[in-house]
Amino acid sequence: MLPYRSSGRIAPSDVAWLILAALIGALVAGGLANMIGQYFRIVVPFAVALGVIVGVVGSAMIHWRRFQTPAIAAIIGVLGGLAAFSADQVFDYLRDRHAITQEMVRVVDRLGGDVKAVRSHGNLSATIDLLMVRAGRGDKINLINSLSMLGDEPLAGNARVGSVAALRGWLALRHRSGVSILIGGQRERPGPPGGLLIWAISALLSGGIAGVLFFKAAREPVCSGCGDWFEGSSSGLPAANYGFRDHVRQALEQHDANELARMFPARGLHRKHLAINFRPCKNCTEALVYTELQRVRRYSAKRSSTSPLLRGLLPPAAAQEIAVALKTARRRQREEAIRKIVRPKNQHRR
Ligand SMILES: [Zn+2]
Repeated sequence: MLPYRSSGRIAPSDVAWLILAALIGALVAGGLANMIGQYFRIVVPFAVALGVIVGVVGSAMIHWRRFQTPAIAAIIGVLGGLAAFSADQVFDYLRDRHAITQEMVRVVDRLGGDVKAVRSHGNLSATIDLLMVRAGRGDKINLINSLSMLGDEPLAGNARVGSVAALRGWLALRHRSGVSILIGGQRERPGPPGGLLIWAISALLSGGIAGVLFFKAAREPVCSGCGDWFEGSSSGLPAANYGFRDHVRQALEQHDANELARMFPARGLHRKHLAINFRPCKNCTEALVYTELQRVRRYSAKRSSTSPLLRGLLPPAAAQEIAVALKTARRRQREEAIRKIVRPKNQHRR
């Protein structure tokens, strides 16, 4: 068996494409989460969903560009996940600014003032900034008093959307009031430091999940002949129980199909066992077959997890021979198991 090595090829244009995909994913995920978040919000599942959406968008791009550098992909993925989380926060921030404007307009309308003048006032944005800074400090906010700020001349110089100080004030306000989470169906608002901690964990969760998904997508093997992805799924043929991993590894490296068939457990596979996965190239019939020795953990009839123990390339004939030997061994084991069940008990005792 020959070692499989990722080409590690890295083109600047591919990196640019991947960053673009991560950003688009972040905007879509952040926007979506924010839209749904108006009606209900469960912090941790939302953070997971943000990471998954960015991860799926990025994986599609990785697949399309045949991106082969897992470490770089993971970094871009983490940043994309964090960007999605931030986008959600920024949308919240803009929405809160809008809500304050609406509230001001309502107050002015009630007082019989000129509503249009409020909306188009040059000091409006700066006034909201100032309100947010004060709210962040913990001051009580009085909208009627703040309306008079619109007339203050010195504010005009600072009139711009969202100064850094205002954003900081808004964040402070957020963390003071806490992040809303659902615990056992009851809405709770842990104050600081709990709120800040949940906030940080959510951000890390979004970034981490996106990073892992990007990493996994970029680690998928590519045929050295044509540069295309190898065919097939990641699940392999059952081979032996986990205790035989060194023997199986050796037999696989020596292309010994008979030895592999001999190691197939007559008494069935354990929860933790080995599988061998063959993935040929769909374009090149003569190309080496990507082969992976996997550790399989079975949790239930349908649920299991696999992790690679050995990755390499086999000549097509050897891969074919091993696959046939394993399938035959498995069929024989099943037939043997059925025979044991069917055989009458008295005959068994004799
Ligand atoms: Zn190929």
